[in-house]
Amino acid sequence: MSNNSNGGFLDSVNKNFDKAARFTGLPKGLLEQIRVCNSVYKMQFPVKVGNEYQVIEAYRVQHSHHRLPTKGGIRYSSKVNQEEVMALATLMTYKCAIVDVPFGGAKGGVKISPRNYTTAQLQKITRRYTTELIRKNFIGPGMDVPAPDYGTGSREMAWILDTYATFKGGEIDASGCVTGKPVNQSGINGRTEATGRGVFYALKEAVSYKDDMKKIGLEPGLEGKTMAIQGLGNVGYHTGVISQDEGGVKIVSVAEYEGAIYGKDGIDIKKLHKFRKETGSIVGFPGTKKLKSRKDVLELDCDILVPAALENQIRVSNAPKVKAKIIAEAANGPITADAEEILLKKGIMVIPDMYINAGGVTVSYFEWLKNLSHMRFGRMEKRFNQKTYNNLVSLVERETGRSINVREREVITRGADEIDLVRSGLEETMINAYQQIREVLKRKKGVDDLRTAAFVSALRKVSSDYMALGIFP
Ligand code: NAD
Repeated sequence: MSNNSNGGFLDSVNKNFDKAARFTGLPKGLLEQIRVCNSVYKMQFPVKVGNEYQVIEAYRVQHSHHRLPTKGGIRYSSKVNQEEVMALATLMTYKCAIVDVPFGGAKGGVKISPRNYTTAQLQKITRRYTTELIRKNFIGPGMDVPAPDYGTGSREMAWILDTYATFKGGEIDASGCVTGKPVNQSGINGRTEATGRGVFYALKEAVSYKDDMKKIGLEPGLEGKTMAIQGLGNVGYHTGVISQDEGGVKIVSVAEYEGAIYGKDGIDIKKLHKFRKETGSIVGFPGTKKLKSRKDVLELDCDILVPAALENQIRVSNAPKVKAKIIAEAANGPITADAEEILLKKGIMVIPDMYINAGGVTVSYFEWLKNLSHMRFGRMEKRFNQKTYNNLVSLVERETGRSINVREREVITRGADEIDLVRSGLEETMINAYQQIREVLKRKKGVDDLRTAAFVSALRKVSSDYMALGIFP
């Protein structure tokens, strides 16, 4: 275990890798090549903040070049360090493989706490960071494509695109240099909510198997299940809203920086979000009581726990106290490898990060494809499909002598818009990937948890890419 400030996040990822590698039968050299980070770029650059100059520490790590471009978010946090970015880049490689997104893994990090800077200062830092990436060829639609992560969003992605396009004037695919952009700046509908929506589709699929649910003492289906969420940021918020609105899940607890709340009758996440915006805190939300510590959310008695903040939240020290039946790892690395052993012994179902939070990269892939095709999804076929369905409905009406009302006709004959196609593509991806992982879990002797099964599934795909390259036998 390394002595870094990050509690051994990379060690934890590699420990999980080693556990799964035993089941693959792949040669040692190939496994080693897959395991290591291919390129690590550490930079330090000056930015004038107010009247003083600050030296900003930042990173971009490309974990695997077996497929290009590489892909992964950019994190802004005061806790960013090389090992953390390496661990996150590593997870990206397996994540992409699991959901069949044809990219290698990467990740970026800027060691700043965004709340300490004005919007103008954040823009300056983001543009300078992008310039450093351009200088070293660490960004480009065919090279390395960043996206949002903890502490960043569509605003930062717009600054990145603008900086890139300024330096690369005339590059026709420039807009594909980054994803998660605002929709009106070459983004795609549905990207903001994509990770949370992916978590929801994954959960819906996971709880649909009667035998699997029986093992953990739950009935199949999401309706009525209780959920606790740590972190009400992009991922936590959308997971909560969609699970509540589309899955009938009851959110009983939420934790944020300022504290944690519990409401036995359910917490309306949209209203809570509004309340926090108005008051600056989730604490005091009507119908809820404050928990002693914000960490208590992790130990609540509930069906589904969604850690959606940062890594290393469930460790050996608190794992024995976790009471949830299912843990959906919406954040990256919220459970240390050692803590997971304890959770598995307790019979808790852990749905691993590299599968369950892959909705973001999946829709980023759709956005990148949209940028390369220079056209929004649905533009060519929407009207054509609408006319075809209309003709079919008219034919049925004529043949049966019955007519349907205008509203029904509209519903049946509607052609798909971009948002419909994005959601359908995401749902298909999350279901397919879960079925592949579950198949490994059922068929591979000795594999008895979803993370190991997910790793085995990913390693099969990454290794076959390496073999196709002809480097390994
Ligand atoms: P975000 O910055 O939008 O939100 C994170 C939230 O967690 C913030 O509101 C923060 O105040 C809160 N938080 C931090 N520490 C906390 C603690 N100890 N207790 C309670 N709340 C706490 O970040 P995000 O984009 O939602 O990312 C969250 C996690 O999901 C990260 O691990 C990230 O790597 C992962 N992830 C994000 C995406 C994406 O598309 N944004 C995709 C895949 C994975």
